[in-house]
This record gives sequence, C-alpha cells and structure tokens, in this order.
Amino acid sequence: MSATFDSIAAAVASAHTIGVASHIRPDADALGSTIAFAMWLRSLGKDARAFNEEGSTPKFHYLPGHELVATPPAAPQKFDLFVALDTSVKNRLGTVLGAIAPGTPLANIDHHVSNEQFGDLNFVDPTAPATGQILVEFFRHTGAEITPAMAANLFAAISTDTGSFQYAGTNERTFAAASHLISCGVDVPGLSRAMYDSQPRRRFNLLRHALNTAEFHCGDRIASFSLPLETVRELQVVPEDNEGIIDHLRSVEGVEAAVFFEELPEGKVRVSSRSKFPSIDVCKVCKIFGGGGHPMAAGARINGPLQKVKHDFLQALANEIRN
Ligand code: 5GP
Ligand code: MN
Repeated sequence: MSATFDSIAAAVASAHTIGVASHIRPDADALGSTIAFAMWLRSLGKDARAFNEEGSTPKFHYLPGHELVATPPAAPQKFDLFVALDTSVKNRLGTVLGAIAPGTPLANIDHHVSNEQFGDLNFVDPTAPATGQILVEFFRHTGAEITPAMAANLFAAISTDTGSFQYAGTNERTFAAASHLISCGVDVPGLSRAMYDSQPRRRFNLLRHALNTAEFHCGDRIASFSLPLETVRELQVVPEDNEGIIDHLRSVEGVEAAVFFEELPEGKVRVSSRSKFPSIDVCKVCKIFGGGGHPMAAGARINGPLQKVKHDFLQALANEIRN
C-alpha cells in the first residue's frame, strides 16, 4: 500500500516497540537516516531499536548517536512496527531480515526509483536525492522537533548522497531541507571535515592503486577499476574504504560512465556504477544482472569470476552508451 506522511505517523503512534534499519554496506544516508529516525522515536518515548547488518562501522563514528545502531540479534524479535529506510529491495536488509518476526508490519521509506514496494506501508519518493531529505520533510510535516544530533545525521545523509549537493536530483527542496537543518544546529564545516577530510591513510593507498590501474574502454567513454581479493589483502583495505573511489574515474573529461568491480570473499563480484548524463541509465544495466539503484548510480552483486563479470558488464554498459 502506498503511504502518506500521516499514515506513517499514525502507524508509529499506535506502536511501542519499533525496529529501524537500512541496507547492507551502509552509506551515510542509510545510517544517518536510521539514527535520526530512532532518535525521534525515542523522543516520543518509544522502545526504538536501530540495526544494521554491520552495526555502525568506524567510518561513521562521526555521526552523533552512531552507538544506537546494533548488529541484529540472531533470533527473530517481536516488533509492533519495523521501518526500513533507504532500502530498495527487502533482501538488502541482509541479516536484519532474520531478526524480524514473521507477521511484523513493515514500513518502507525510500528514494530509489527501483524500490519494490515490499512494505505494508510504502513511502517511495524518487524525486528526493536522499532518504534523509524525505525524513526532513516528514519531520517538518508532522511538526517533530529536529534536535542538533538528528540534524547532523540528516545533513550527512543528504550531503553524501548528493555528492555535496551536486548530483542530479539536487533541487530547491534539497537546499530547503539543508537550510532547515542548519537552522536546527548543524556545524557545516565541522561535519564536512569529518565526512570529507578525515579519510584513513589505507583509503588513500587504495585510491593511489585505483588511479594507477584504472582502465578505459568503449573509446574512453567508460572508465573502470577492479579490486581483486589479492589486492584487498595486500593493501589491507576494508569495504568502507571503497566508497567514492569511483567518482575519481567519472570525473575524467570524456568519461561518461564509471564502474568499479570488487571481488567478494563469497565468490561474487560487487559492481558499483555511475553515469555522468541522465541519458545513460546504469540502473537499467545493473537490473540485467539482478541489481538496481538510481539511473545515475546503481549496483549489483553478480556471480564471479571477476574477469567474466567485468567482460559481461562492460559489454552491456557499452550497449547502453551506444544506444
Ligand atoms: P553503490 O554503488 O554506492 O554501492 O550503490 C549505488 C546505488 O545502487 C545505491 O543507491 C544502492 O542502494 C544501489 N545498489 C547497490 N548495489 C545494489 C544491489 O546489489 N542491488 C540493488 N537493488 N541495488 C544496489
Ligand atoms: Mn540513499
């Protein structure tokens, strides 16, 4: 069922124990939205429990309240309501799914155009460039107080998912939401330093490696970078180090799409793709391989080996670009 802000607020009002979670490999939109929503629920006196498959990873310890996010319990729990945020398909909740008892009412609040409407209540707004923006609009609509800690989480969500207010989808509502958050107490330079100028040296080493080994295809219209498990071991990088490396590939003049292939321990390959123009739909390409996302930023997990995934995906992407 399609939800409104009012129907979501009503579902929250009639529930007490409420779970909140987002997708595997969380980004700041996933975790920031989860934390802000859980903080709001707690301010209402709810028994709010926030989860992520990975808990709160060190990269996101700058988010105030990150310690609220726990790894999910192994056995199913009873919740009056469970809220999935920034999650386009149910199985992207990962191990969190196993913590939700069957029959639990599920609310799905998201901004992915590929969202599968898997909730009992679905609020999906693909015109929002971040789930954090939807939550700002939700809180403003319901008259909820946005504390400085909630504001920092929501600002981080919006800033990172829009590439610092640059990407397609960034519009006047986005700036209105950000402006409101600043009025609620966000320290923009301090938060920006934590988000963008505090990368571990490990990640710098990975970036250097990526720039040295990047490949160009399709008449230099596609740039790609591969990360085999062997290199992960050599550089001792952790998954969160990968985020944003792909943007350096896309930033090259003449490159219209960038792809990052990451070999995973379980034999799959995580593909991350970005496009520079709305006319090149990388979500369409990812969907061919069972993935999804947004038209200009999408991903998939594809059965390996790495070289075959690379070959097949680049071929499909070249077709999309040439058409
Ligand atoms: P990223 O490349 O940063 O991992 O993801 C870009 C976008 O694609 C995100 O919005 C993310 O939710 C989505 N995405 C990434 N991987 C997958 C996937 O395996 N399946 C689906 N459905 N979406 C994905
Ligand atoms: Mn998002």
